[in-house]
Amino acid sequence: MNLIRHFSALAALILCLTATMPGARATDITPAPLSAEIGAPCLPIPEAPAYRTNMNAADLTDLKAYLPSYPLKLRQANYGERPWLTINVDSCAAMGPEAYLLTVSDSGVTVTAADAAGAFYGLQSLAMLARDSDSLPAANITDAPRLPYRGAHMDVSRHFFGIDHIMKQLDLLAAYKINRLHWHLTDSEGWRLEIPSRPLLTELAAWRPQRLYSDWRKAGRRYCPRDSAGAYGGYYTADDVRRVVEYARLRHITVIPEIEMPGHSAEVCAAYPELACSGKPYTQGEVCIGREETFDFFKDVLDEVMRLFPSHYIHIGGDEASRRHWRQCPMCQQRIREEGLGDEAGLQSYMIRRIEAYVNSHGRDIIGWDEILDGGLAPHATVMSWRNVDGGIRAARMGHDAIMTPEEFCYLDHPQDDPSTQPKAFGSPVTLFKAYSFDPAPDSLGTDVARHIIGVQGNNWAEYIPTPEHSEYMLYPRIIALAEVGWSQPARKDETSFRRRINDEIRHIRSIGYNAFTLSPRVAFTQDVDYARRCILVSMATERHPADIRYTTDGSEPTASSPLYTGPVSIEGSATVTARIFQPDSLPGPCTRIRADYHKAIGCSVVYADSCGYYRDRKVYMAGGDSALTDGLRGGKTYTDGRWQGFCPNSLDVTIDLGSVTEVSHVMANFMQMRTPLIFLPASVDIWASTDGKHYRLLGHDEPEGSEAEADACFTELGWHGDPEPARYIRFRATQGRRQFMFTDEIVIL
Ligand SMILES: [Zn+2]
Repeated sequence: MNLIRHFSALAALILCLTATMPGARATDITPAPLSAEIGAPCLPIPEAPAYRTNMNAADLTDLKAYLPSYPLKLRQANYGERPWLTINVDSCAAMGPEAYLLTVSDSGVTVTAADAAGAFYGLQSLAMLARDSDSLPAANITDAPRLPYRGAHMDVSRHFFGIDHIMKQLDLLAAYKINRLHWHLTDSEGWRLEIPSRPLLTELAAWRPQRLYSDWRKAGRRYCPRDSAGAYGGYYTADDVRRVVEYARLRHITVIPEIEMPGHSAEVCAAYPELACSGKPYTQGEVCIGREETFDFFKDVLDEVMRLFPSHYIHIGGDEASRRHWRQCPMCQQRIREEGLGDEAGLQSYMIRRIEAYVNSHGRDIIGWDEILDGGLAPHATVMSWRNVDGGIRAARMGHDAIMTPEEFCYLDHPQDDPSTQPKAFGSPVTLFKAYSFDPAPDSLGTDVARHIIGVQGNNWAEYIPTPEHSEYMLYPRIIALAEVGWSQPARKDETSFRRRINDEIRHIRSIGYNAFTLSPRVAFTQDVDYARRCILVSMATERHPADIRYTTDGSEPTASSPLYTGPVSIEGSATVTARIFQPDSLPGPCTRIRADYHKAIGCSVVYADSCGYYRDRKVYMAGGDSALTDGLRGGKTYTDGRWQGFCPNSLDVTIDLGSVTEVSHVMANFMQMRTPLIFLPASVDIWASTDGKHYRLLGHDEPEGSEAEADACFTELGWHGDPEPARYIRFRATQGRRQFMFTDEIVIL
């Protein structure tokens, strides 16, 4: 990329460009560009700026069709008129796809790109520079995407959203240079695409008596005819799809349709029971692979899908299929024998390969969720890695392309703050900065693997998203963090700069009618242990900007004159740290508290009873292994932070050796409850003490309060607190009585 040539040609401009000049400001472009020099204001923005371009006729027609949505009211320059903005599209320009060069001087604005998408992104950056201002700063911006695939996913099956909502999101997604919409059109909760040859999909399987997904589940997951009273649901006609696809295309977004198979297909089996192994509706969520009718069905569906969607990729799902019915189905078993597939994983793989061949024969390629790796990957498939990044890396090592959407970073249906302060959502929090911290293609993978990781995507599953407003609340601002993950080079990512920019973006997008989450008003704590100095280091952070954090260590509420947080606070012994944020022009934020204890059990050995062990299948649930409960490190608001230890299905039953007999007056452990990922508080805990390791006496018994046990999400401490007792060994037992997860963190002994 010979940009030096461009820069030297713009020597006059450089005179106007002094990033240190008074009035100069930081880059306000999100996602962060490859390089940006921003100077002082130098070019007034007229009411209706004139542009001139050398774009070809087709690209110009598209640009003109888009411009009514563009924040600046651009008009084509008249003959002989000097343009305010020049858009150069030169396919010979030494730049990659979607890249652009944007310069602003006192003589005008120039956007240069090798393709129309690059010009479009130059215009998006220009709009950000122009926002809320009557003049543009001098600027010299060179920009190009890190990854070619930057996606947003929308689930319209669990709750249905009309095309106005979809198109409204496309406007904003395009502004952040997102270029793929993954449209999850079918799932067991409703089929959303009209297929003329299969009318029952949208006459029956797109409708249900209950509006809310959770009510529908409780009522037995039945569909109802479209014209029945109170039917909730909907579907897209061919005309709806054409409108969305065209609206997206004008914004350089490709719409990728997803048709789920063979699992997540209960609605298909309800409308066409002959596709189920049993031949009966409401018996299974996956189609029968033994029957040819199943392939006829999906060919009909895919014919219509490929007719409506020009996307090169067709997403065919492939995730979370139960294989139980295939095991008992004579036709599925016959298929396994005749095709020599080995087992049910091979059977699923057979279906995906056959469907892939059909899609390939139409010049298209498939994407599937990472389960399509099980039983053998179809030859040309691209893998969307959701359970973690491993599936994507495995696929990339095999020479397949992969798109990274790991749940831990990219699932926008998870809460974005302490779940007890948020609307019902799935699983543990994915905060803005958690999403921002994701690197889909780290250097450590090596270039041969990394070059197959083509993108990143945020997934907005809609089980707990009943309204368009709520959908926006979950999308923004986290999808903007993922846009920067996909677009910006890792070296250009910067948390401090992003915090400032994202707070500005949130204010802006709310002002134009998007229901973005305004970020946590609470201070987030993390604790570290300094074993040498025998103290706990408490770090504090806020997502808000501008904001000061003030704190106390005596339990009182911080005021505007309390100490200002500037770095980790060290606590010797025990203290309660209370903190809140102070922002200009608003009331102080709510207080958050954390107990920090450099306690007696830190570093002491823990013996797990034979009947009790922590969950070893996922490393993160082991936390620090055998020392996790007494390492002084406390879990935060998410069970995947590597500090919470997970137990499933066993109870927690451990004995801690304090090394010598000492006075003990407090034994407490933290537990959490999160209903959607099936994490529950213990029913009760019991604490015993012993001086010799042989004879134990019961110190206390504790149970969660009724309201805690009923909560969808809560954190609580359970244990014993009383008069000092001599003890060397402390046995802590927590019994849940369910075969579900129990998570605990530090056992604190004082
Ligand atoms: Zn079958």
